Amino acid sequence: MTDYIPDEIESRWQKRWRDEGAFEVTEDPKRPKFYCLEMLPYPSGDIHVGHVRNYCISDVVARYKAMRGFNVLHPIGWDALGLPAENAAIKRGVHPEQWTRENIAGMKRQLQRLGFSYPWSREIATCDPSYYRWNQWFFLRMLEKGIAYRAMAPVNWCPNDKTVLANEQAEGGVCWRCHGPVEQREMEQWFLRITAYQDQLLDDMAKLPAWPDRVLVQQKNWVGRSPGAEVDFPVEGAEAIRIFTTRVDTIYGATFLVLAPEHPRVDGLLAGGSDADLRRSLVAKLRGQDRRARLEGQVEKEGVFTGRYATNPYDGQKVPIWVGNFVLMGYGTGAIMSVPAHDQRDFEFARKYGLEVRVVIQPDGPPLEGAKLPAAYDGPGRLVNSDEFDGLASEDAIPRMAAHAQKKGFGKATVTYRLKDWLISRQRYWGTPIPVVYCPKDGMQPVPDAELPIVLPADAPFTGEGGNPLEKVAAFVNAKCPRCGGPARRETDTMDTFVDSSWYFYRYLSPRKDDGPFDPAAVRYWFPIDLYVGGIEHAILHLVYSRFWTKVMRDLGLVALDEPVTRLFPQGMVHKDGEIMSKSKGNTVAPDDVIAKYGADTLRLYVLFEAPPELSMDWSESRIEGPHRFLQRVWRLVDRHADSLANAPAPGPAAALPEPARELRRKVHQTIARVTRDIEERLQMNTAVAAMMELVNEIYRLEGVAANSPSVLNEALETLIRLLNPFTPHVCEEMWRRLEGPNTPGLVRAPWPAADEAAAREETVELAVQVNGKVRGRITAPVDADEDTVRRRALEEPRVVEMIKGKEVVKVVVVPGRLVSVVTR
Ligand SMILES: [Zn+2]
Ligand SMILES: [Zn+2]
Repeated sequence: MTDYIPDEIESRWQKRWRDEGAFEVTEDPKRPKFYCLEMLPYPSGDIHVGHVRNYCISDVVARYKAMRGFNVLHPIGWDALGLPAENAAIKRGVHPEQWTRENIAGMKRQLQRLGFSYPWSREIATCDPSYYRWNQWFFLRMLEKGIAYRAMAPVNWCPNDKTVLANEQAEGGVCWRCHGPVEQREMEQWFLRITAYQDQLLDDMAKLPAWPDRVLVQQKNWVGRSPGAEVDFPVEGAEAIRIFTTRVDTIYGATFLVLAPEHPRVDGLLAGGSDADLRRSLVAKLRGQDRRARLEGQVEKEGVFTGRYATNPYDGQKVPIWVGNFVLMGYGTGAIMSVPAHDQRDFEFARKYGLEVRVVIQPDGPPLEGAKLPAAYDGPGRLVNSDEFDGLASEDAIPRMAAHAQKKGFGKATVTYRLKDWLISRQRYWGTPIPVVYCPKDGMQPVPDAELPIVLPADAPFTGEGGNPLEKVAAFVNAKCPRCGGPARRETDTMDTFVDSSWYFYRYLSPRKDDGPFDPAAVRYWFPIDLYVGGIEHAILHLVYSRFWTKVMRDLGLVALDEPVTRLFPQGMVHKDGEIMSKSKGNTVAPDDVIAKYGADTLRLYVLFEAPPELSMDWSESRIEGPHRFLQRVWRLVDRHADSLANAPAPGPAAALPEPARELRRKVHQTIARVTRDIEERLQMNTAVAAMMELVNEIYRLEGVAANSPSVLNEALETLIRLLNPFTPHVCEEMWRRLEGPNTPGLVRAPWPAADEAAAREETVELAVQVNGKVRGRITAPVDADEDTVRRRALEEPRVVEMIKGKEVVKVVVVPGRLVSVVTR
């Protein structure tokens, strides 16, 4: 008897995999490839069980695919730039680089201790100049193409983190990092023109059938393409006002226009009249209100009547022109038609200022009356009070009425988008320096490729007093103009870290290449990524940016791909006591403690077995015991039989085997089919494990009798170990060696077992027997039994005999494989 001692087994196999480079791969055109990817971790300091779950799922697939004969690339790296490192530097006086490197070293040890099948020679860290020089290189290419550009913009500014944030990082006016309030500031910033790709980002979703709908829906909403119309409302003695609307079908219900306080026409319209000064001061007040609060409707709706009127070009009615704080420049034209009957914002404004509410859309049901509406009706319906368009369904009216405006020359159909260009500049140190300089004579000049990488200076001061530490390093700031050779100022903004993660999965292919970001031939071999596993929280941001980046690279002629990822799998979260596990809640679990107690294999098995991988799982220490006991049971089985099975032959034809042996073989081959299907089709690791647990129960039940057929018992154990190997690789390698002898090649590339359909087929089948429509008994019959045999057995079933005693059987119907129906009189 030998004991199962995970610690000893696991460290031995981890060392052997490392020494042998067991997971190192190169392009091999003779073998099919499988690129299995997980989202690279941020080196925050600890691997937590959320990471473990993510990486266990992809590790099972990677190891499984390797056993299926695929050439599997399953790399890992570090998303190593970004704010936390800089904040840690300010707080503890450690340089961001040192903090990052120490965290990487610790987390790498943790990952290795979990036995993941990574090719460590391909490890990358985005804070290496050899990595971020390619961010700079891509930036220069985008600058040449006009995709990268600089502009003044109102930006989201986090006063805590002292940096600009992308819109996506400031949703709801709250900073995604520190959760503090975000302010608006007007600053010169760098952008990437992602809006040039907005239609492709939407249309190419058709090429992503293996992405979950919930991710695509989020991306669709983020791009926010909405068809609408622009319509000119003539103004007497002045230029017409152009409005934008997504509901031109409601234009007969427009009872006033509203301009944004910043609209360039406002001052002109306010001129003249006795109370012009009063109106002007009211508008000034609106202009002073916080933009974001206005956008989100957090301020009371307020407006000022300009004293002027416009004309609705559809029906010639006069409509008053107002200025309102709920309209913003930057969306549409900064001017709207207000339809209070069918838009809630307009409705509230109209009620406040006593403006008319006119119904033009009638849903099914009693007729709506403007004066009595409790709230706006913004759903679809039939047009009323709309002249020639009366009776049209609203969705049909929209294109018809837009076309009408175009024909008559007072408007046109348009499309608007919610997506804004990607603001990538950050006023912080620990990011990729943007490779441009500013010359007093020549203006902004890109740094020549030959001068890349522009490396972060090691001696920046981290005082926490605000401002960008890079600005205080004279040796960094003082540069030479590449055009005139004169003194120039180097750009001190750095790039958003989402730039780093937009293309890192290409760098894994050629991690040490120094004359290009990657080898195009390697991309042709390995791409697209076959499976990408990561958190649903990346549905927008990372997963939109990386799709955009690939499209830009394609247009630069660097790759021949539209989309980088074939199949996306967002794994569920890990909860504890009903709450999301997070550092801030203080309910995180360190895998190290679990590993010390039970071993890495048990931890792996636990997170895979506990819940379907796409659903959240609740962490419970007490439930780790079950998977641990299971591994011990498997261990004992192998330990007990390994010696006697040393020279067992392959099982012969089924007919020659006694029934218990045939039964065991049946279970073995059914399990192969189930586990294969569960991994292959839906990544249902939990049901795959359940199937293997059933198999182990069956082996225990039959091991006594099956011992007379060593070939069958041997096949059962060999199969079990191979099926289990992707889940708990260390203990499987150890048991495999025990079973196959010390010189056996390991399981990393051992063939995945094939299910023998004949062996898996059930030999008998259970049928229900009904008497006059009610189930009265059950019989078993051979699968291939003819109808007469089944009928005879049914009529011999004791309970059925009882039921039909003294009656005349008029009909017996056999539904093969399911039931026998007996009818009596
Ligand atoms: Zn912040
Ligand atoms: Zn110059």
